Amino acid sequence: MFESLSENLQATFKELRGQGRLTEDNIKDALRQVRRALLEADVALDVVRDFIDRVKERALGEQVRTSLTPGQEFISIVREELITELGGASQGLELRAQPPAVILMAGLQGSGKTTSTGKLARYLLEQKKRVLVVSCDVYRPAAIDQLKTVAEAVSADFHPSSPLQSPAQIADAALAVARKELYDVLIVDTAGRQTVDEKMMQEIKGLHDFLKPAETLFVIDSMTGQDAAKTAAAFGDALALTGVVLTKVDGDARGGAALSVRKVTGKPIKFLGVGEKLEALEVFHPERLASRILG
Ligand code: GDP
Repeated sequence: MFESLSENLQATFKELRGQGRLTEDNIKDALRQVRRALLEADVALDVVRDFIDRVKERALGEQVRTSLTPGQEFISIVREELITELGGASQGLELRAQPPAVILMAGLQGSGKTTSTGKLARYLLEQKKRVLVVSCDVYRPAAIDQLKTVAEAVSADFHPSSPLQSPAQIADAALAVARKELYDVLIVDTAGRQTVDEKMMQEIKGLHDFLKPAETLFVIDSMTGQDAAKTAAAFGDALALTGVVLTKVDGDARGGAALSVRKVTGKPIKFLGVGEKLEALEVFHPERLASRILG
């Protein structure tokens, strides 16, 4: 992830080395290159603009520490701003609600919701939680079976549902079972569409109102690029999201989605999907990603 961005930034910083101090003039070039690198990484334009403004303001307002060269000072500012932009500290799941804590998975079709449901179940089972999963996707014929297969692969309990039921009926039944059988966590996989549409939003809003989830996770494919910002905004407007799962980071050379999604939703990225296998889930660490970006 971010290979090209990292390379671009490194080239930028090289040019800054050997200069006496940070001035409007000598950071202009560096900023332009950071801007280009971020745009090439597919970060949304507004997000880039905002980021560049903040870096510029700080770079000009700050004394270069005596222990650093101006280039190092600039890198350090970019790094800190990246960490801030990516969400500051790492944030885990907030499941302190009265059990069963519900995790609602939202996102477009193909974003990786079902796979991420399995990955999260596995992650929580490792923490000795009792986990039940259910699919409310009554539209895609194979969706319920897909979740069943994934649940079996990670040894999570699966609540069977049927395309003949409504999503609300499924949610109601699964929650009742989770309560009665004292599960710690109920993960609810939902239907996705190819694009954001009103019916999908109304349906998931209804599920959200009923389930009152401890976590509403927006799952987004990191390859979505510029569109990530638009999709994230649509989900963020419709639902009180609590966090983001950014998937397919393993296949993403640019990765601007991380910055855009964080900025647009204002919600922390909590996990990265880093492969198709069900163990390929990483807790998101902003500082690690910032370091990777800078190389
Ligand atoms: P859903 O429609 O949102 O439920 O998406 P799926 O969970 O069915 O995932 C769609 C495709 O993306 C499947 O082929 C998954 O194996 C793949 N996928 C999901 N997450 C990841 C990931 O983190 N990395 C990679 N490489 N593939 C993933």
